[in-house]
Amino acid sequence: MFRIGCHLSSQKGYLAMGEAALLIGANTFQFFTRNPRGGKIKPLDLEDIRKYNEFAIENDISDILAHAPYTLNASAASEHLRNFAKETMLDDIKRLENIPGAMLNFHPGSHVGQGVETGIELVSQMLNEVLTEKQKTLVLLETMAGKGSEIGGSFEEIRRIIDKTRLSSKLGVCLDTCHIYDAGYDIVNALDLVLSEFDRVLGLDRLKAIHLNDSKNPYSSHKDRHETIGNGSLGPKAIAEIINHPVLLKLPFYLETPNDVEGYAREIALLKTMRHN
Ligand code: FE
Ligand code: FE
Ligand code: ZN
Repeated sequence: MFRIGCHLSSQKGYLAMGEAALLIGANTFQFFTRNPRGGKIKPLDLEDIRKYNEFAIENDISDILAHAPYTLNASAASEHLRNFAKETMLDDIKRLENIPGAMLNFHPGSHVGQGVETGIELVSQMLNEVLTEKQKTLVLLETMAGKGSEIGGSFEEIRRIIDKTRLSSKLGVCLDTCHIYDAGYDIVNALDLVLSEFDRVLGLDRLKAIHLNDSKNPYSSHKDRHETIGNGSLGPKAIAEIINHPVLLKLPFYLETPNDVEGYAREIALLKTMRHN
């Protein structure tokens, strides 16, 4: 089963996203929990969620991935921003508990000059304040390109966050193909090696989702600019290897390529032809 989808607008609610996914040949999707550059959110519409949950079962849509806003920085220098990060994540998790199997992905953040160690400490501090034993929603740390003072540009940094988090059973990792190539993991020439490195440092059982993106920039450029599938420095051969790799086969793939809805539909159709089973 090929679990493939893309980023969708959450403006019109969950049922609308489910319907949009189906129309473009997707069986999963990602969405922002709230305004990605702000933090504003509409009140929870339980009726919409009930209809969506029904629709998802009927149409085999699952493993949907919520993306926390970009403004969420758990390792910010200001206490005000760190509190915003904490409150936002608490609220997002509470909302997602209403959707079976939904996961929440977030960027570990930027240490903004405080140093990687302090950044890692602050992120795990937030996770220790937010995560609860009873929550079902898995929280995913996204692998980053290592742009500026970004944390999470190496598997080791993510490992250290997990190690410092008490309820680490609630944590997983989302691997972004554009980001890790940008960060210096050569998935074009050495995918097997990168995946065994992931396994050695993090354990493949932590890997819960793939952001499937090509990259506008060459290997190890730390820029984080996504490209449409097959048209960037990863290219079609690497993308085909990734979606068909035996250890990745069962994972959900989410496109975050620069596309409108029609473009996503074309990419999903293309990827289905590239997938062997
Ligand atoms: Fe992201
Ligand atoms: Fe991503
Ligand atoms: Zn990115």
